[in-house]
Amino acid sequence: MSQRIAIVGAGQSGLQMALGLQAKGYRVTLLTNRTPDQVRAGKVMSSQCMFDRALQTERELGLNWWDDACPPVEGIGLAIPHPEQPGARLIDWAARLDHPAQAVDQRLKMPAWMETFAQRGGDLRIADAGVDELEALAREHDLVLLAAGKGEIVSRFERDATRSPFSAPQRSLALTYVNAMTPRTPFSRVCFNLIPGIGEYFVFPALTLSGPCEIMVFEGIPGGPMDRWADARTPERHLAESLRILRTWLPWEAERCDAVTLTDEQGILAGRFAPTVRRPVMTLPSGRLVFGMADAVVVNDPITGQGSNNAAKCCKVYLDAIIAHGDRGFDADWMEQTFARYWQYAGDVVNWTNSLLTPPPAHILSLLGAAGHAPELAARIANGFDNPPDFFPWWSDSAACQQLIDQHLPQAA
Ligand SMILES: Cc1cc2nc3c(=O)[nH]c(=O)nc-3n(C[C@H](O)[C@H](O)[C@H](O)COP(=O)(O)OP(=O)(O)OC[C@H]3O[C@@H](n4cnc5c(N)ncnc54)[C@H](O)[C@@H]3O)c2cc1C
Repeated sequence: MSQRIAIVGAGQSGLQMALGLQAKGYRVTLLTNRTPDQVRAGKVMSSQCMFDRALQTERELGLNWWDDACPPVEGIGLAIPHPEQPGARLIDWAARLDHPAQAVDQRLKMPAWMETFAQRGGDLRIADAGVDELEALAREHDLVLLAAGKGEIVSRFERDATRSPFSAPQRSLALTYVNAMTPRTPFSRVCFNLIPGIGEYFVFPALTLSGPCEIMVFEGIPGGPMDRWADARTPERHLAESLRILRTWLPWEAERCDAVTLTDEQGILAGRFAPTVRRPVMTLPSGRLVFGMADAVVVNDPITGQGSNNAAKCCKVYLDAIIAHGDRGFDADWMEQTFARYWQYAGDVVNWTNSLLTPPPAHILSLLGAAGHAPELAARIANGFDNPPDFFPWWSDSAACQQLIDQHLPQAA
């Protein structure tokens, strides 16, 4: 293949694309702003839990190198504290996933993929891309993909206001990677806890630099009592704040944490961003084009754990489209059509994820409650994380939702 393709950003989507194109014989340049060693030595970036269909896109490219080492996530559970009985749960259920999920620390995965890309003859460049670098890449290549995640440069893609209902962060986010948490039995799971009016907490097993661990993810409503990370400036204080939250609202999670320690000093993160959809094509001052992929153009709040899944699936859609396009040039129409194909899927992910950032409507509360009495319904919800379009129409349509509940509840009785 004679075409030259440049990718900016060595994250889930950029690296998967770089290695995928390389395997097909394309000449690929990958420009990113940190070396493999810098990524390894840096802070954790994500909780990156990936479900089966997204993992399948990695398997297809032979990039699933941690299947044996990474502890599987076998299910999803939901707990909601009882509003009147402290320490009790109003809702509490768990269901198995049809296929396990897994979370490999991006500090482990991305450097390994970067080094392999370079070893296989890829042109790996370390630089912070601004407009000048994009112009230079666009001159030298047939296609420039910008996969810079939440990097500043992506704000040059125009925000799509019709698809972006929020203009400010909806959650204050924090990650705490720990060892020695008591596992959930009889199957491992994402334990999702929803504290009405305060925020959410979820936790699941993962693989980090030192081996298996658990990742705690905190989603506090901004300005609320779960949004105190600014005062937790040291790793010790960050861990202490994590445990304070659990002891205050989620005692059944706190009791798993008597012996926990941080995996490492860099195993913590705090931040916030506004979920945003952007127009996928950027026109440079020269008139040349840059095509956006994954978080650069569709960034969701992590509340549903979909970002890395989206990145892998976006890569699959784009990679297939590039290959199918053959030797023809990549113009704005092709970019818009390719993004539209991804949006057919990603639109549902965005709608579902955004729906969880505002107080749930009555039909969703009924659904989540009913799932506690109907294992098949619980399994349906759990497995939706693998393919969020399965949530529709019933997630957003109260009549369809009631019908679904009615289908399952007699069976449970
Ligand atoms: C707290 C938190 C928890 C999360 N949990 C989950 C989860 O459980 N499951 C899930 O699926 N997703 C989760 N995500 C989201 C997921 O991590 C991202 O959606 C995913 O990594 C996006 O992949 P990407 O390829 O678009 O970008 P990224 O993986 O962010 O990669 C972007 C790359 O671009 C580089 N870069 C940025 N700017 C420039 C520049 N100017 N020049 C050159 N290089 C640049 C960066 O260094 C990086 O290499 C979480 C995110 C957060 C913040």
